[in-house]
Amino acid sequence: MDHQVRRRALAARLDELGIDAMLVTRLPNVRYLTGFTGSNGAALICRDDAVFLTDGRYTEQSRHEVPDCDRITFARTYRGDVAERCAALRISRLGVEADALTIAEHSRLVEALGPGVEPVACEGVVEGARAVKDDEERARVRAAQAVTDAAFEAVLELFVVGVSEARIAWELGRLLHEAGADDQAFAPIVAFGENGAEPHHEPGHRALEEGDLITLDFGGLVGGYHADMTRTIAFGPVAAELAKVHDVVRQAQQAGIDAVRTGATGAAVDEAARTPTVEAGYGERFVHGLGHGVGLEIHEAPWLGPAIEDPVPEGAIVTVEPGVYLPGLGGVRIEDMVEVTADGAIVVGTSPRDLIEL
Ligand code: ZN
Ligand code: ZN
Repeated sequence: MDHQVRRRALAARLDELGIDAMLVTRLPNVRYLTGFTGSNGAALICRDDAVFLTDGRYTEQSRHEVPDCDRITFARTYRGDVAERCAALRISRLGVEADALTIAEHSRLVEALGPGVEPVACEGVVEGARAVKDDEERARVRAAQAVTDAAFEAVLELFVVGVSEARIAWELGRLLHEAGADDQAFAPIVAFGENGAEPHHEPGHRALEEGDLITLDFGGLVGGYHADMTRTIAFGPVAAELAKVHDVVRQAQQAGIDAVRTGATGAAVDEAARTPTVEAGYGERFVHGLGHGVGLEIHEAPWLGPAIEDPVPEGAIVTVEPGVYLPGLGGVRIEDMVEVTADGAIVVGTSPRDLIEL
């Protein structure tokens, strides 16, 4: 990963953003620009140089992770050092990440900077750059998906009458690690039967029964990059309506995948996938947006959903994950990550998408 290139690209945008420098404090953005993986760090991106700031716990780690950048170890907060740099470089408009600063932090920053420096709220600047993945990022997401596919195949062996959602969630973590994941991308969603009607059901003690649909939403983490996949499978023969709903969601997902291409708006892709659910009478039961970008964060730009008028950029990786949820009965969601190209979408994973009946 060439972090210096990324910092230079941001520095080249300062004029357009109407700022003299940008203070980056959202950790995934700090990581993207510097390579730093710790829990407390900031980057000050100026026209001709950049400085990385962290506390004493990370002095040594950042020496390895951020070798190509000026580094400062601060005692309690980065604010004093940032103020000093701003004064030295005659910075008067300092971009700050509005999504990352609390009101309290903003007040303290204003106080530390003094009257000569105005913080300027910026939104989505680094996130916008992160939406477009380079080759190495794509390779890491693919590796994260490969361990996810492997864990999915292996977990299919573990469904027996009486096994609990929580047990399957725990096993998924083990299987992801055994397949080579650094960690789980997020706490897995495992929902049996009627619990599938909750899109983000927390795995509990519900025991598996014949005729349940099973929803698994999980993924591996490799090299800081996430994978995100959902499959809904049948444990024995399921009610006719649930099998039908799976068909509808399968069609909806394919329609969404077919609509993904460079420049399509998030709303257009969402509508393409939503239409089959509306036509089948389940439009009201598709209760969330269609998808999201995946990378250093599990949910990041770009977004696919109603009213998202931003075009999807070439080189993004997004999920396509329609779902239909029937309270009291169950739910179906099918989710895959796809790479966005000018010719259309390339599905990252290899797990089968048709209904698997165990
Ligand atoms: Zn998911
Ligand atoms: Zn997702």
